[in-house]
Formats: sequence, structure tokens, C-alpha cells
Amino acid sequence: MDVLAERILLDLRNTFKKDPLIDEFDVLPVHESVSNKCPVIHVDHKIALEDWCVKHVYVYAYSKFFEWRKKPYNIDSECFLMWTSAILLINPEIETVWNARKEFVSQNLLLPENELKFSELVLSRKPKSSPVYAHRKWVLQEWIRGKCTPCTLQQVVNHELSLCSRVANLYPNNYYAWCHRSWLIQELCHYCHKTVSDELTCTERWTSTHVSDHCGFHYRQFLLSCYSKGNNSTPCPLHGDEPCLNSQGPAMATLLRQELSYLSNLQAAYLGHEALWYHRRFLVHEFHKMEQPREQLVMDERGSCKRHKWDQGQGWDGFQEGVFLRECWARACDTGEWERTLIHRHIKWLKNVVCWPVPLDF
Ligand SMILES: [Zn+2]
Repeated sequence: MDVLAERILLDLRNTFKKDPLIDEFDVLPVHESVSNKCPVIHVDHKIALEDWCVKHVYVYAYSKFFEWRKKPYNIDSECFLMWTSAILLINPEIETVWNARKEFVSQNLLLPENELKFSELVLSRKPKSSPVYAHRKWVLQEWIRGKCTPCTLQQVVNHELSLCSRVANLYPNNYYAWCHRSWLIQELCHYCHKTVSDELTCTERWTSTHVSDHCGFHYRQFLLSCYSKGNNSTPCPLHGDEPCLNSQGPAMATLLRQELSYLSNLQAAYLGHEALWYHRRFLVHEFHKMEQPREQLVMDERGSCKRHKWDQGQGWDGFQEGVFLRECWARACDTGEWERTLIHRHIKWLKNVVCWPVPLDF
């Protein structure tokens, strides 16, 4: 069996060498071996292993790797790549193997570019594997440290963002992919205003077609919070001092109003999605926070002041929220039992958390 496993591993390795553009890996449900037929399938830059051989290949590569890891000896990198690639393609959760690859990158025995390509291939089959994202972050940081021009960095960021979109489509509520996306904005882009604003625009379409995906909305909340961070004194790593720092973008209140109107339209079109209501609570809470410093003003000009705010379209308050909820209730009247439950929960939340009492008289 070892001879067979060794041969399959070599086939796998040679296929990768022959075609550097391989971008997808999978296991095919072929449960029995057909004599003399190679279980490594390679079509149109996609590679797959037949199911029957996976266990043999995995156990063989695993035992070879850990034998070496326990009593390290001089190993040629081809062999190391062959074992570790097979293990991680089949099971990417083993951090010891990723760590060994990190050591090889640090010793210049593995190219970071290739490592990024390999981990992307692993994600094509396991888009929700946390150690893959952790490894990717480490490689990205190693790679761009010191030698990365803004132009290269922009290319890296663009590539990572499109990878995140792809894997978010592969798996709903892909928390790890969205966290990776936030990490990019934070660590690689240093909250670059232009990138944050572009992201708000480009994820709008995604969230409107995935209304029950909490992660997409949570990411938008992160983006909106980046805006409130305001004047960052360090230059933007993508655009330098200008034009990024000079364009502060719209005020937080305007952004929140835009987001609320976008969300209200979604809520009118799609009933019974809890993710939408959670997103609403985030926005209401932000408005509530902005209201705090003006409390004195509200006390002095009670009534007229709140009206005034509504007219200028700057804030949002309990009265406006009440009007919106009545509309929602009317829409959910006939068929939306779950939506009515969600409305009740929201009213309870408003009362308990932001002290915006909305009477339950509908
Ligand atoms: Zn920038």
C-alpha cells in the first residue's frame, strides 16, 4: 500500500509542476479503484483525487511527515512539499503542518507567492477552514514587509478581496472569510478611506442578494465603524498622504442615514430575516450614541428640536422608528407571522436598550 500511496503522491506533485495554474481541488466520489487508472484527475486547471485513495494517501503522508518532525533529518523540499500538500489538501486543520511550512518560508525554502497560491487552492475545497486564513495572514505579512510598493500592495489587496467574495459565495455565513476581509482593511490598508468607501459600495449588492447572511451585514457594520475612526494621522499605505487623507468622505450621520434607507428598502422587500433586524439594531444604536451629547439641547428645545432633526435628515429617533415599524406591521399583517415576532422583539429591544418606547398598539 505504501508503494501505491507514494506513486499517487508523485503523480499529484508532477501534475502541480506541469500546471502552475491549478486553482481548484476536490475529492471525487469514486469508491473503487479501476486497475491501472491513475486516481489523480486533472482537467482544465482543476485537480481531484478519487475517494478510494484519499485515506491511503493521507495516512502515508501523515506518518512520513510526523516521523520527520519528531526526529528531523535533512529533507529535500520536494519531498516535504509532497507530504505537506497532500495532508493539507485533504485536511487543512492540522496547524503543525502549516507551521512547518512557515518555517520553510522563513528559511527561503518556499516562496511566499507559491504559499499564497497553495492556501487559495486549499480554500477552494474548504472555504471555512480557520487555520488556512491564519496561515495566509502570516504569509501576507511576511511577503509585504518592507519591500512592497503601494502598487503591489493594491494588487495584493484586490486579489484578497476578490478571494473573500468567492469563498463567501461558496459557503453561507462564512465568518472566517469576512473576518479575513476586515483584517485586510485594518492591517494592510490601515482603514484607507477610499478602500472603506469602495467596499461599502461593492458589498451593497452582495448583502442585498444574501439577506439572511449575518456576516455580510456585520462586515458593513465594521466598515461604518471605520468611518467614525476619522482623522488617522498615519499616511495611507495605498495612496500616501493624498488624496486619501484629504477626502474625509461624508459625515457619519449621513452614512448612517444612507445605510438605514438601504436597509429599510430591503426590509420592505424581504420579510422574516433576522439578520436584517440585527443590522437595524446596530444602526439605531449608532444614532442613539450620536444623540447623547445633544441631550441638553433636546431638553432645552424639547419637541421642536427632534422635528428639526428629522427635517434635515441627519438623525433618527424613536418617533421615526415607530412610523417605520407601523409600516412593517401593516406589510406583515396577512402572512408574516415570523416577521411580526421579529417586530415585537425589536420593540422590546428599543425599550430596553436605547429607551425609545414604541407603543404596542398595532
Ligand atoms: Zn487610501
